Amino acid sequence: MIPVRDDLRVLEGYHSPQVDVDVRLNTNESPLPPPDAFRDALAAEVSRVEWHRYPDRSATALREAIADWHGVDPSMVFAANGSNEVLQTILLAYAGFGRRVATFEPTYQMHAQIARVVGSEVVEGERSADFTLDHDELRRVIGEHDPHVVFLTSPNNPTGLVEPQDRIDDLLTVSNGLVVADEAYAQFADWTALSMLDEDRPLVVTRTFSKTWSMAGVRLGYAIGPTWFVAELEKVALPYHLDTVKQLAGRIALRYVDDMDARVRLIVSERERLSSAMSALPIEVTPSGANFILFRPASIGGRQLWQELLDRSVLVRDCSGWPRLTDRLRVTVGTPAENDAFLAALKEILT
Ligand code: PMP
Repeated sequence: MIPVRDDLRVLEGYHSPQVDVDVRLNTNESPLPPPDAFRDALAAEVSRVEWHRYPDRSATALREAIADWHGVDPSMVFAANGSNEVLQTILLAYAGFGRRVATFEPTYQMHAQIARVVGSEVVEGERSADFTLDHDELRRVIGEHDPHVVFLTSPNNPTGLVEPQDRIDDLLTVSNGLVVADEAYAQFADWTALSMLDEDRPLVVTRTFSKTWSMAGVRLGYAIGPTWFVAELEKVALPYHLDTVKQLAGRIALRYVDDMDARVRLIVSERERLSSAMSALPIEVTPSGANFILFRPASIGGRQLWQELLDRSVLVRDCSGWPRLTDRLRVTVGTPAENDAFLAALKEILT
């Protein structure tokens, strides 16, 4: 065996078990497939692909379509294979050996994971017991460590809490580094940092096609930010990293904004239905602006509840062993029928 880099030896990697169950509510995917019209349009375009040619290296049409949707210039858009690859590219460009990356825990594990893989030092700020981010803690972390990159996830994963705008204002005031607002779930929330973007501000927003666009299988995400930032990411990304089919899929998906909006409305209303039904049980529910809900049973342990749900063929995310999340589970909002099945199992176990 050849020894891996010393700093990688201690890393554990990212784990999210894929178990075969009737009701799968563990990975925050869309419970619905894309509209039929999308699939037909994509199939027609795919039949005309010139397979022997490399894809458009700058993904021009896709970036134009994304830019158009957000009302920004295409030179402000960088697309990659899932927002995870967007995050990795950002960290390759702006973090790495000798640089520091700040996160406020608990939050999306991949921020710290990718930061470490690219060799950066991770500094972890602590959220309060209710998972909000205290102003003084934010200032302490930035003041003590002067990070090169700071992540804020809004809505946060796995808590679901929407970050108030003044936290981003705070960060932009006190930080010398790049502020990354990870908005993988922002379409389910009532606030986005997109309107704060400015050529003179070191703020970027990352988004994904994996949730609202029902395209987790495609692996497509993007960042919107200042043009100087996008230009740096382009130096770091591998040539032709976005394949032709993916570019087509993303561009065609954006023709179905109305269908996407309807899905978002359905998920948001189901989220509210789930939250109130769960709150009527002996469960502590964290308010969510995302397509999932973090919760903690009051009468039994989190791990036990997770297992008992699984025994009823309902899979949720077991966060109960994660730091700061003792006994908590996270359920993705599914179809009305899936949510009913989850609630029925929950009631049976807890009452
Ligand atoms: N950011 C957050 C906060 C997420 O929860 C996820 C997916 N779980 C991602 C980014 C990555 O999404 P994807 O790579 O599918 O675009």
